Amino acid sequence: MKKALFRCKTCGAEYDARKPVFRCSCGEPLDLVWDGSGIDHSQRCQAKRYSAFYPFEDEEWVPLGEGGTPLVEVKAFAAELGLADVRVKNESANPSWSFKDRGTAACVAHARALGYSRIGTVSTGNMAASVAAFGAAAGMETFILVKGDMAEEKMAPVAIYGVKLLRVQGAYDMLYSESLRLGEERGIYFMNSDVPFRAAGSRTISFEIAEDLGFSVPDWVVVPTSAGGNIRGIINGFEDLLKAGMTDRMPRFLCAQAAGCSPIATAFAAGAGKVTRFPSPHTIAHAIENPFPPSGNRTLSELRKYSSVAVSVSEEEIVKAQADMAHRGLFGQPGSCVPLACLRKAKAEGTVAEGQSAVLIMTGSGLKYTAAFAAHRLNWLDCSLEELGEKLK
Ligand SMILES: *Cc1c(COP(=O)(O)O)cnc(C)c1O
Ligand SMILES: [Zn+2]
Repeated sequence: MKKALFRCKTCGAEYDARKPVFRCSCGEPLDLVWDGSGIDHSQRCQAKRYSAFYPFEDEEWVPLGEGGTPLVEVKAFAAELGLADVRVKNESANPSWSFKDRGTAACVAHARALGYSRIGTVSTGNMAASVAAFGAAAGMETFILVKGDMAEEKMAPVAIYGVKLLRVQGAYDMLYSESLRLGEERGIYFMNSDVPFRAAGSRTISFEIAEDLGFSVPDWVVVPTSAGGNIRGIINGFEDLLKAGMTDRMPRFLCAQAAGCSPIATAFAAGAGKVTRFPSPHTIAHAIENPFPPSGNRTLSELRKYSSVAVSVSEEEIVKAQADMAHRGLFGQPGSCVPLACLRKAKAEGTVAEGQSAVLIMTGSGLKYTAAFAAHRLNWLDCSLEELGEKLK
């Protein structure tokens, strides 16, 4: 690994990125500072195509084909909203069916560069599957810690990777800090939530969007947000492109949340500089249900810096967005359909103007959360072979 820094955008502190530092001592998240840029057009996988944007050596990466996901134009959404262009970045096309693979790949490269042979994460959903997949591919001892009440059907898709899966009884909040403490003591790299290389991994979402749009930048990028690591990374990605002279402006960002768990949108609406814990979170959008996001304060300050907004939507709006996306061939889990619902609301409120363009980040696959089927009125017909001719008339 080459010499690189982590910087805290809040207090300005800098750290050597070749040490296992996961957070600034002021409590805020850290971002990678690295001046490299350039695209290897012969490659599709993020680790190879955008390797110049990372301080790693080739052999430190363990690629599984992450990144290179489709940017799908949906003319029906543009027509409905009176927008010039609406596209969906389909992150379900990643190796473990969510964008988490981008950050996991970068964290695994970092862990290997620092000499770790053991990795882990604390997660309830997509992060667990992603770290399990990459840990298995890298042949590293991998520890996945999940909540004590995690259901069988969510354990199995993680356990299948053959990693060490621990269902831990006790306060989930404590599990996070306890994992970092034990990780330091036992030499396990815990790539939780919004650690620096998770955000640094998400930058490639921005690189791919810009490339697919011929290095023009959409007016809006709509990101379903929980911990805030992904939106932070996407913002950093557009900053890196601008810095490298590859684009000529920043987009505006729409931080999309469910009203049932909207700590960032609530703080934003109140004009607050810091997020507070969201009381009794409850939403069908489980993937974005973090009541006290570790990158919440940072997200608020970035939104203000780029004339951006945070919007929250109801459960009904989320379920409708999931159905409407699927009816256009894009089946995302409820959390990853929140952007469409938020774009509709922002357009209705006049935040997003007639004729603008937007990219919606569909962060993960609908098959990840089949319980959401119950929220839809799905129907099909039964008939006999004899009746088939009649049915197909
Ligand atoms: C993790 C996740 C998010 C939220 O990303 P953060 O970095 O926590 O803000 C959104 N959608 C899906 C599908 C996820 O798995
Ligand atoms: Zn700091």
